[in-house]
Amino acid sequence: MAAPPRKLETLLGPKGPLAERIPGFTHRPQQIAVARGVDTALAQGRPCLVEAATGVGKSIAYLVPLMRWLDKHGGRAVVSTHTLALQSQLVERDIPTLLAALPEWDIRAAALKGRSNFLCLQDMNTAAQELWTQGDPLFRQVLRWSNETDTGDVAELDFSFSGWSEIAANPDTCRQRECRHFDRCFYFKARKAAEDCNLLVVNHALFFADLRLKKENPNGPTLLPKYDAVVFDEAHHIDDMATRAFGLEWGSGRVPQLVRRVKRLVGDSEGAVDPARLAALEALNQVVVDPFLQAPSPEAYVDDLLSSDADRDAFQDRRDDLCTTLDALARELTALADRSEDTALRDRAAGLARTATRVSSELTQVTRDDAKPSPDGAEPGYFRWFHTRRASQSFPARTTLVKTPLAIDRTLQNVLFADTPRVIFASATLASGGRFDFLKKRLGLDGAEQEPPVEVVEGSPFDHENNCLLYVPRHLGPPSSSAEYVERVAEEVLELVEAARGRTFALFTSHRMLRAVHERLWDATDYPLFVQGSMPNGRLVDEFARAGNGVLLGTASFWEGVDVPGPALSQVIIDKLPFATPDSPTQRAREEQIKAGGGDAFRDYSMPQAQIRLKQGFGRLLRAAGDRGVVAILDSRLWTKGYGRDFLADLPTCPRTDRREKVYHFFDHVAEAPAPLAPAAEPVASR
Ligand code: SF4
Repeated sequence: MAAPPRKLETLLGPKGPLAERIPGFTHRPQQIAVARGVDTALAQGRPCLVEAATGVGKSIAYLVPLMRWLDKHGGRAVVSTHTLALQSQLVERDIPTLLAALPEWDIRAAALKGRSNFLCLQDMNTAAQELWTQGDPLFRQVLRWSNETDTGDVAELDFSFSGWSEIAANPDTCRQRECRHFDRCFYFKARKAAEDCNLLVVNHALFFADLRLKKENPNGPTLLPKYDAVVFDEAHHIDDMATRAFGLEWGSGRVPQLVRRVKRLVGDSEGAVDPARLAALEALNQVVVDPFLQAPSPEAYVDDLLSSDADRDAFQDRRDDLCTTLDALARELTALADRSEDTALRDRAAGLARTATRVSSELTQVTRDDAKPSPDGAEPGYFRWFHTRRASQSFPARTTLVKTPLAIDRTLQNVLFADTPRVIFASATLASGGRFDFLKKRLGLDGAEQEPPVEVVEGSPFDHENNCLLYVPRHLGPPSSSAEYVERVAEEVLELVEAARGRTFALFTSHRMLRAVHERLWDATDYPLFVQGSMPNGRLVDEFARAGNGVLLGTASFWEGVDVPGPALSQVIIDKLPFATPDSPTQRAREEQIKAGGGDAFRDYSMPQAQIRLKQGFGRLLRAAGDRGVVAILDSRLWTKGYGRDFLADLPTCPRTDRREKVYHFFDHVAEAPAPLAPAAEPVASR
């Protein structure tokens, strides 16, 4: 086979090797424009920001120049995704398809997941001998699977096993090379494959866990092998993921879980661990978390809840008691490990001692007041908050204490961009107002001291002008929480559902509105209803698509990543502009920070966030070239407020109306007309 052409325009062009060798490959000028931007960034050692709408074929647009660069220059690249679904698509479909079409390139691809996804054979063997697994049919299935699987990846199980965390690989208890299962160890096999490859696919959680380790100990062990370039797909999650990774979370379930494990370890053996200490730990844990569980709001600043000196002092005393008892348990377990002649018992006791020490030190860290940035700027200053989950039939009430950095720009510069300037951020929704200012500021890509990023914004290749109608009613008035307004919205949704003959996604910004609309539709429409929470999200979407005339009602998780091409989804209704809840601690902290710096929190933060979110919701409609339909945004502020025009300008260009008759007309005359011939299957370039 002849060597592949080097020019991107030829590679991705209508007569190129991809068009020749991949059935259904569609040449798109937007795809070539994105590939050129990525190529420039790789060649010049610069970051790159890419917004490429659905249908551009974004993953191929970055993979082709990336693979070409690796083939020419050597080294290793990491592609990181937010969702498992995209990771699977890249590993199982896109990359193998490209490698089959371009076999001359020296590309060895592998995927790596986080350690807790892998079965630990040592802990599995131990669990098989313990009481808690006896008679559990699911454990027996896991045991059978453990003897058959090649990967040990929990994703292979087609059922959920509640005891997975007890048998998953875990850094505290892992004996590494000393483990007698090391040669067959699933996690270390996956690590070895990652080291041998030059194109590694991971998820954002693992990528940032690795960066966090580098931040804490620049010369210490890492989770990922060394890399020379990174592509973040689904990059609109990067700000949140990085912020979370460089912060700290401490869950109230960690102490009870530790106590459970210690009890299993020592069983009935007298004197191994003081039972009174274990009872005290559970009681102290409860006392520490009680104020949060009883707080009037499910999430708030810690300082708002513990607002007086007396409250704070009492909390610190209780926390110190808990930490002291955890440290004492760690010493007791270490002593048990030291005197044990049973290797398995010794290793598990030592592992649990490390866990007890970690739980104690992280509780101290997460509750320490680090509000001010460090003088050298290396530490950004943190805000402390908590969120709670109410008790349910299956779960006890839980609280999570969180410490979140106010900024991540300096950290990213130090631990990522300084060593790896070739970082590509790609998403279908990344820009606001056609610009990346918001993201550049958050990620630290706007500094004068570094190379400016290459920026590419490519709109949808789909024909929105002819295939889409945007309906924004004025008669509902501005959004309000009044019962009367909620009723008017529910009535409007009912009318629109009837107009579209079902086939509707209704996306809500609040559960209250979702419930009200559900009640109204339940009484008044015969179209099948699919309501968030009634079954797992993936199944809900599958059943909705299968029904062909269904109505799906959902909140946050349905605004993005849901893909239903074809007429089963012909209308998207959005209840209002998706501004984040202003009283959430994260939102408040960011807004206060911007205001303190003299900025405009609405223009610089709330609005760009909401613009990106709105584009995500809008983007659910046209998923393939022949798709047609209506997007209805039930928020008159789009017409009446100055910022409404900015929101409208940020959406794909299509006819707009405030008259419902036009929606009826669209469904009677446009949406039902035969679709123009669309390209057949688009197995690779459909994203
Ligand atoms: S090497 Fe570590 S993760 Fe692997 S089986 Fe042994 S203890 Fe478990």
